[in-house]
Amino acid sequence: MRFDIITIFPELFTGIFENGIIRRALAEGLVEVDIHDLRAFTHDRHRTVDDRPFGGGEGMVLKVEPLAEALASLGIAPKAERETPQTRVILLSAQGRPFNQAMAREMSGLDRVVLICGRYEGVDERISEIYCDQELSIGDYVLSGGELAAAVVIDAVMRLVPGVLGNQASGEFESFGVQDAEIESGADGVPRSQYGAGGLLDYPHYTRPAEFAGRQVPEVLVNGDHRQIRHWRREQQLRKTLLNRPDLLEKAELSAEDRKILEAMRASALNLKSIQ
Ligand code: SAM
Repeated sequence: MRFDIITIFPELFTGIFENGIIRRALAEGLVEVDIHDLRAFTHDRHRTVDDRPFGGGEGMVLKVEPLAEALASLGIAPKAERETPQTRVILLSAQGRPFNQAMAREMSGLDRVVLICGRYEGVDERISEIYCDQELSIGDYVLSGGELAAAVVIDAVMRLVPGVLGNQASGEFESFGVQDAEIESGADGVPRSQYGAGGLLDYPHYTRPAEFAGRQVPEVLVNGDHRQIRHWRREQQLRKTLLNRPDLLEKAELSAEDRKILEAMRASALNLKSIQ
């Protein structure tokens, strides 16, 4: 899978892709990231990429011509003429649709994603109208540029590209994981809803030492009973989701037992506070 980033600050990406999973995925050729300096597509002495907004008002706007030229250099035609459904052109924007794990999963199946990073007051709207398949926001706050947003999108998508995570299942069992019905691996007779993330947040993780500052890891995790462990983890997922993201429960895949557990938790506010 290939990512192209168009930016006026290519140096901001220094180091971001040089560690951990991303570095390995790049080294193994599973993904490619190409960064393009927008100023290389200007033709004046000052390498001008921005101009004042029509209609007046604050700040500057990224001009349409250098961006159109940068896209053309990448072989990206206006969307009306494009015949490459496996390529997606995305404008990072606070006004975009909120990016989420389901989008990341869907995008990980594409061949190519082109990310346009705005700056200043944003990008001349005609770039979105003519070239962009999507406007994406990484959250309800305003960044000074699209570069960090592009890095967030690439990180989230790239780790779901087949072969990138050492253990493919990690991408299914974590927060916002796939619905249980989509999980192929078996689970020795335990109901599926007891072990898949199914749209819930992840359960808490612990590693050695077993005791730190007087706090022991939960007993159930060291007793070796995998059925009990799965049960405990599911309960913890429900507890965390109810406490931190109750909105996710509306869409989560819940069993009758899950609902009973949630009812009990709701009835006991004390129970919820104990994990804060
Ligand atoms: N005037 C714009 C508005 O109010 O929506 C904000 C422009 S912002 C200062 C500059 C650039 O940062 C945007 O063009 C966009 O590329 C990027 N950006 C800011 N917030 C973002 C967010 N939440 N998600 C993705 N990109 C964002």
